[in-house]
Amino acid sequence: MRILWRHCQIATMEAGKYNLIPHAAMITDGPRIVWLGEAGTQSDDAIDREVDLHGRLVTPGLIDCHTHSVFGGDRSQEFEMRLSGESYAEIAAAGGGIISTVNATRNASQQQLLESARKRIHALRKDGVTTLEIKSGYGLSFADEGKMLQVIRALGAEMPLTIFSTCLAAHALPGEYQGRADEYIDEICQRWLPAWHAQGLVDAVDAFCEHLAFSPQQVERVFHKAQQLGLPVKLHAEQLSLLHGAGLAARYNALSADHLEYLCEEDIALMAQHSTTAVLLPGAFYFLRESQQPPVALLRQHQVPMAISSDLNPGTSPVLSLRLMMNMACTLFRLTPEEALAGVTCHAARALGISDRCGTLQAGKEASFVAWDITHPAELSYWLGGTLSKQVIYQGEEVWHD
Ligand SMILES: [Zn+2]
Repeated sequence: MRILWRHCQIATMEAGKYNLIPHAAMITDGPRIVWLGEAGTQSDDAIDREVDLHGRLVTPGLIDCHTHSVFGGDRSQEFEMRLSGESYAEIAAAGGGIISTVNATRNASQQQLLESARKRIHALRKDGVTTLEIKSGYGLSFADEGKMLQVIRALGAEMPLTIFSTCLAAHALPGEYQGRADEYIDEICQRWLPAWHAQGLVDAVDAFCEHLAFSPQQVERVFHKAQQLGLPVKLHAEQLSLLHGAGLAARYNALSADHLEYLCEEDIALMAQHSTTAVLLPGAFYFLRESQQPPVALLRQHQVPMAISSDLNPGTSPVLSLRLMMNMACTLFRLTPEEALAGVTCHAARALGISDRCGTLQAGKEASFVAWDITHPAELSYWLGGTLSKQVIYQGEEVWHD
């Protein structure tokens, strides 16, 4: 089915720039774009259907490249306790913190995890997301991490968006391995990862490199295994301190290093050299009321592309809108609205290793786009809260209209 989408403006986002075409049209054939350009200049090939976009502004479908959308329970009561003045020790004693999410995730059935995640993903979809990455990391056992990875695959099969699955078993040390972190890493490398990889459950491998999680030496063992299995890696790095995790990730040709508040210039140079994308997560920065900002000026100087993501998770970033993250990237990290839009399209695709098919609007690429009822793309970063009227087209088919 060849469709002519006419009467629109298009921001193609090629090379991370708006490249605005004011009087534009696009032709799609099934899930692919076959042509786009100035209205009236297309060839007269047979068109099966025409769709009038009423002057709307078309951008690539948004890509949320770093989320923990599958988890049991939530931490809203912990949020309330914290704001009522209770200490971290009191909250931990009441069963709070990441362990509460691990327990709730372990106790939830696949069906329960699926249903709760579906609602959160629905919220992201309503805001223009057509591609999403989801990490495991709250099961922390062979059975429960496997359960999370199965749920991620099931969500991808049933929902009208593309979902990538990342194994984050090296997220936190489970209680039963207390004091035996190296044995836990051995289990992941020797038994778990090869098994999940053989079942086709893993698209990439991630870890949390931080004093309160895993050391660079432990992370490197996970990366080494991933490399043997032919799986790309990425890393939670430099969020709370400088451990040079981003440099380590770059040396393993990581798709991305994420968070990066404490990133240093030496590691930025390595990221540039190895084409590792910087993923900035302003929601966690905001929710934790952090003050150390990621080194945006240096990332620009070294031409390391910056992606923006929700980091949707129950503990530090309960974010249900990627567009809100564009605003926060501008207000908190001083990105331009053009950089923010590139961060959730072109550069987010790079952070997932899918630049060849997604993230920009060009002939040959996936026909996943949003037609927004706005006049300039800066509005996507400018309006705070609420919803913007839009049509979301996923692989050539309209999947949302409001
Ligand atoms: Zn994360």
